[in-house]
Amino acid sequence: MVDQKVAIVTAASRGMGAACARHLAASGYSLMLFARSEEVRVLAKELGADAMTGSVASEADLRKLVEQTHERHGRIDAVVNNTGHAAKGELLALTDEEWHTGLDLLLLNVVRMARLVTPIMVRQGSGAMVNISSFVAAEPGLRFPISATLRAALGNYAKLYSQTYAGQGIRMNNVLPGWIDTYRVDDATRQTIPMGRAGRAEEVAKAVGFLLSADASYITGESLLVDGGFVRSA
Ligand code: NAD
Repeated sequence: MVDQKVAIVTAASRGMGAACARHLAASGYSLMLFARSEEVRVLAKELGADAMTGSVASEADLRKLVEQTHERHGRIDAVVNNTGHAAKGELLALTDEEWHTGLDLLLLNVVRMARLVTPIMVRQGSGAMVNISSFVAAEPGLRFPISATLRAALGNYAKLYSQTYAGQGIRMNNVLPGWIDTYRVDDATRQTIPMGRAGRAEEVAKAVGFLLSADASYITGESLLVDGGFVRSA
């Protein structure tokens, strides 16, 4: 019998993180769900998953998460690096503190997780990570300056990571959601989406599930838009 695959999902208590957890549970993964609030335990109970509380912006919390998952299951096959939202504001009005907090939340969360989980995946000879990024990595907009800047950097990080670990059977990809219904999408914005509607969190989760699966075995370092055609540039 093939061992059951084990996945970590961060920022899993609601929104796209919760949708990823539901989709991966339905796909047969054993799950460790991670979020700041105790609320995550409710979803974990529903899915028969384990749960841990902590922040993706804390190296110590991520270390505990990886150690506990590995102690419990003896392997980690997949990680969904989902996270929260960075501060927004006028470009020059954003403070150093807001930029530093954004760095912890949107880029170092992945850098630190990669550092912690890669030695385990190298020993296994396999593993896959998907980072939930944003369409603003591909098309920067002034509504989201910190996200647009740091998520472009995340795209390059995934490229560097994939060059380094592809040969050892470990893949990293980014999913770039467009306007998703976990966010308030106003009518004016909706009209600019070629599909004429916001995306559903489940539609993002299915793309994440695909990129983690063996069906995506030759895809790494890629940034996949799930945006209903919103980003026009090639
Ligand atoms: P959401 O607000 O529905 O959920 C975010 C989750 O992150 C919550 O469970 C929250 O508790 C958790 N969280 C926040 N900070 C955390 C931290 N420090 N540590 C651990 N957990 C933390 O958000 P969503 O709409 O599902 O968005 C998820 C990610 O996707 C965000 O990074 C967002 O910027 C990005 N994104 C969203 C959209 C959209 O339209 N919804 C589009 C592009 C990108």
